[in-house]
Parts: sequence; structure tokens; C-alpha cells
Amino acid sequence: MVSRVVFGRGSFNQLGDIIEDKRISDKAPFVFIVDDVFKGNAWLTGRIPLAYADEIIYVSVEEEPKTAQVDKLVEDIILKHRDRPSGIIGIGGGSTLDLAKAVSIMLTNRGEASDYQGWDLVKNPAIYHVGIPTVSGTGAEVSRTTVLTGPDRKLGINSDYTPFDQVILDPELIKDVPKDQWFYTGMDCFIHSVESLNGTYLNAFSKSYGEKAYEMCLDVFLNDSLSKKEADDLLMMASWHGGMSIAYSQVGIVHAMSYGLSYVLGTRHGIGNCIVFEHLENYYPKDVDLFRQMRECHQVNLPTGICADLNSEEIETMIKVAFSLEPLWENALGSSWRKKISDQDLFELYRKM
Ligand code: NAD
Ligand code: ZN
Repeated sequence: MVSRVVFGRGSFNQLGDIIEDKRISDKAPFVFIVDDVFKGNAWLTGRIPLAYADEIIYVSVEEEPKTAQVDKLVEDIILKHRDRPSGIIGIGGGSTLDLAKAVSIMLTNRGEASDYQGWDLVKNPAIYHVGIPTVSGTGAEVSRTTVLTGPDRKLGINSDYTPFDQVILDPELIKDVPKDQWFYTGMDCFIHSVESLNGTYLNAFSKSYGEKAYEMCLDVFLNDSLSKKEADDLLMMASWHGGMSIAYSQVGIVHAMSYGLSYVLGTRHGIGNCIVFEHLENYYPKDVDLFRQMRECHQVNLPTGICADLNSEEIETMIKVAFSLEPLWENALGSSWRKKISDQDLFELYRKM
């Protein structure tokens, strides 16, 4: 679990006080990994508390994080600073938070980031790391994974050392997220709660967090009497709860198939999940119906026909990537999941997307 968290409008201003005690020396910098959408945005970057050798590294999240990008960031930090950093602070959406988590792990573990894609492969504790989300929904601020695309697969570094040591949840930071992005990433949270609540891994923890996230998402996306501020506050909390819910259980078919899309087509996580979810009425009927209502309510259009022109080999790769995520299928369909869904079923679903 994340050991420390603050929530509230304006809490970003506490960052300096929060990290002060964690400074190891004046030569051990804090490195701020910041989404480059904030480059030149003085409202946000002007409040980053820089001192001594501290540094801001702007990262592009045009593509979702890659293991090679993590390795390059780590190499740059090691080459530039004599001492190991005092901490890594990630400021941005899920992609930036994942980069920050992965960099903090790779600063204390040998080899390349791709060596650690999987479950519990990390040997040494990461350096102190702080997460500050600027888009709500992924739950990356709270999860024990950092999702990376490597040379052979898209898979997280899942470990007890991955979660942030500190998170700052300031709903003011999400005010300028474009509408479609707000919806796609918000739906990631809704889908986390649906996949957790409908999964066989469900337990008392994942159920209580999942139910709360689900309820808050219905309010954010279907209750039009909420103000933008109220909705932003609620969605940031929902994201946290959705993330906690899957931390105690697992995601399901939507995520497995969305990883296939992402691997072959580079489709981003939020929108990819929406494209898949739209077609899963046989698996999550009530919630796919609600999803469609939310989409219509916010007038968000999803791309169609993205797999129509793919050759069979490309679709087979998608199927292979999707089925390689066994815990997701086991959560969704139970231990005999392989008998309940075939390559052909997935082929037909992908063709429709
Ligand atoms: P993102 O970080 O990919 O960002 C999406 C877009 O929003 C980018 O263009 C970004 O620049 C922009 N943006 C971010 N903050 C903004 C702001 N305040 N104002 C305006 N624009 C802003 O988006 P995301 O959906 O939060 O994250 C998706 C990533 O999260 C994927 O890489 C996915 O694999 C990962 N993910 C991780 C976990 C986890 O548990 N670690 C869970 C789900 C998803
Ligand atoms: Zn997700």
C-alpha cells in the first residue's frame, strides 16, 4: 500500500514541506519527472520546490511508457548526478506516474527494466518516490504495478517496492484535462471496479473499494447536477478506490484484450479499454449498458473498425498477448477459463472493434 497520502484542493503546495525531510544531502537531488504537457505552465511548474541539484525532467507521453525509455532516464540520471537521488517525484497522468515508479525501482536494481516485467522479480527496495496525478482514473497512483511495453510484451513491474511512498491528490491539477481524455481515463476507473466486482478473485477488501469506486463513477458520469469541481474531487477519489480494489484482486477481459490492441496498434490504455468494453455485452451486460449511457451522456465517440484491415497474423498476435495474461482471465472466468473462451471467440470480438 501507499504509506502516506494527502487529499485536497491546493495540497500540491505542500510538496516542499512533504519532501524536505527526505533529502539525503545537497548532492542527492530530487528528480521531478513531469509530463511535458506542463512545459511552460508556470501555474504548475512554478510551484515545484527546486533546491540544490534538483532537476525537472519533462517526459513525452505521446506513446505509453516503454522499458527502453525507463532505461534511458535512469542512465541520464546516473550520468548527470554524482549521488543517487534523494527521491523521484512523478507529476502527470498514469504514463508519467508509471515512468516515475519504474525509474525509482531501476535506480537500485541491476540490469534493464524489461528484466523485471512480471510478478515479484524486484530484489531491492526502490528509492523514495512520490506520485502526483494530473488525470484521474488509472489508479496508477495507488497500484503495485508500473505498466511498461518491453521488447516482447506489455507487462507491469508488479512488486511490493512499486507503490509510491507518498501520494498528493490535488483535484485542482486535473481541471484542464481535455474532455475526451477525461472520459477515457475516467472509464478506466469504472472498468476497474466492474472487473474487480465481477471477478472470481473478489474478496472483502476488493469488494468494499470496488463498490465505492463504482458508486462514485455513476455519480460523476451520470449525475448532471454535480459541478465540475465536485465531479473532479469525486473522480480523483474514485480512481484511488478503483486502484485499491484491483490491488486486492485483478482486472479482467477488458484489460486483457485492451493490452492486445495496445501491443499491435499502440492503442492507448483508456481509449483501448473503452473500445473493448463496448463489445463485451455478453460478459458484463449491465455495466456495458451503463457505459453506453455514460458515453452518450457526454457525447464521446469511439473509433470503429480499428481491426477491420488487420491481417490474421496481427490479430493472432493480439490474441496471444491477451491470453498470456492468465491471472486476468482466471479472475474473469474462473480457474477453468481456457475451456470457456477460445481463440476464435477473441478473433471474432477483435474483428468487430
Ligand atoms: P496519460 O498519462 O497517458 O496522459 C494522457 C494525455 O493527457 C496525455 O496527452 C497527457 O499529456 C495529458 N494530460 C495529463 N495531465 C493533463 C492535464 N492536467 N491537463 C491536460 N492534459 C493532461 O493518461 P492516463 O490515462 O492517466 O494514463 C494511461 C497510462 O497509465 C497507460 O500507460 C497505462 O498503461 C497506465 N496505467 C497504469 C496503471 C497502473 O496501475 N500502474 C493502471 C492503469 C493504466
Ligand atoms: Zn486500467
